[in-house]
Amino acid sequence: MISKSMEQLMKGNSVIRALFEEGKEMAKEVGAENVYDFSLGNPSVPAPEAVGTAIKKILKNENSLYVHGYMSNAGYEEVREAVAQNLNQRFGTDFEWEGILMTVGAAGGLNVVLRTLLDPGDEVICFAPFFGEYRNYVHNYQANLVVIPPNPPSFQPNVDMLAEMITERTKAVIINNPNNPTGVVYSAETLDRLEVILKAAEERIGHPIYVISDEPYRELVYDGVEVPFMTKHIRNCIIGYSFSKSLSLPGERIGYLAVPKAADDYESLLEGLAIANRVLGFVNAPSLQQLMIRECLNEQTDVAAYDKNRKFLYESLKDMGFECVKPEGAFYLFVKSPVADEKAFVAEAKKHHLLLVPASSFGCPGYVRIAYCVSYDMIKRSMPAFKALAEVYFG
Ligand code: PLP
Repeated sequence: MISKSMEQLMKGNSVIRALFEEGKEMAKEVGAENVYDFSLGNPSVPAPEAVGTAIKKILKNENSLYVHGYMSNAGYEEVREAVAQNLNQRFGTDFEWEGILMTVGAAGGLNVVLRTLLDPGDEVICFAPFFGEYRNYVHNYQANLVVIPPNPPSFQPNVDMLAEMITERTKAVIINNPNNPTGVVYSAETLDRLEVILKAAEERIGHPIYVISDEPYRELVYDGVEVPFMTKHIRNCIIGYSFSKSLSLPGERIGYLAVPKAADDYESLLEGLAIANRVLGFVNAPSLQQLMIRECLNEQTDVAAYDKNRKFLYESLKDMGFECVKPEGAFYLFVKSPVADEKAFVAEAKKHHLLLVPASSFGCPGYVRIAYCVSYDMIKRSMPAFKALAEVYFG
């Protein structure tokens, strides 16, 4: 018999995954070329060639027992060293190799951090709209996710509300920058204000509050926007990074956690994270992918391809009358539903074979998310469908 908590999860199964499956069914009926699936954040730009080259080189030249063997739960030492050096060069930081822990993507990394920090009944705060899986990840450890309401139209996190939401059970605040689903980049000024509030709260409640910085979209930014580097603004910060989006490797499950020396309880934190990686059953991040990453730390995805999609979609939808948040990063367009119930809007869009994600799944009803990590060709072909949808609401 399955657990009650799993029964709950099955009831509320991922809206995005369900849409993705629906899209496949729809394609069987009307033909794949007539379905415009904007549901999933699955990169459309292929991984850089260097990824395949590095894997082939490693398989050819390295000892297979080493390439495919177990290693320390935190990952290969030389890979962690390479990640630390790469961050230090790029951002002027002082990470040590010991402060880097290789993970099974961002999802694995977040779970490792939460397993390390949380006791049942503890609280984690996040700002809406947020990546819906956070709720499940926090519940994995019988803790509670406390959500600070969205802050339109800028969608910068409402840090002013944070102080009153912090209790003695608060262990962490999750920040996702650039943001999924809004595409907004949180400013340095916002982060500095966050730090002041956290410092005061830590003194008040007498224990650390870690900021977990979930940043799989760090390099996906447009118009020269800079993403502030978290540890420069927040002392007690644990960075969770992933190569799923930045190198188009979501199926490979590879990322890392980076903990700065200045973080509270640095040594025991690192020990806890490595143990969490083991006891959660990850044991270690995939060995071949770790070794590949060491060779590809300076590789970049084709941001220009996403930028072209972004500009075209944003301008076109605005011209049709839709209210959109201008995305500065990631690969999502956040659109205000023309009716209060965005699920009705999503249902109407489906009639035109447009698959959009209702943002109540991100804690922000009244909006929808359009993932534009799709082919430019599909976006162009979808325009008559968007026009027909606009006609329904704006005449
Ligand atoms: N965090 C955010 C904000 C995401 O958008 C995603 C994936 O879409 C993840 C975490 C999970 O990423 P990964 O594939 O690295 O586990």
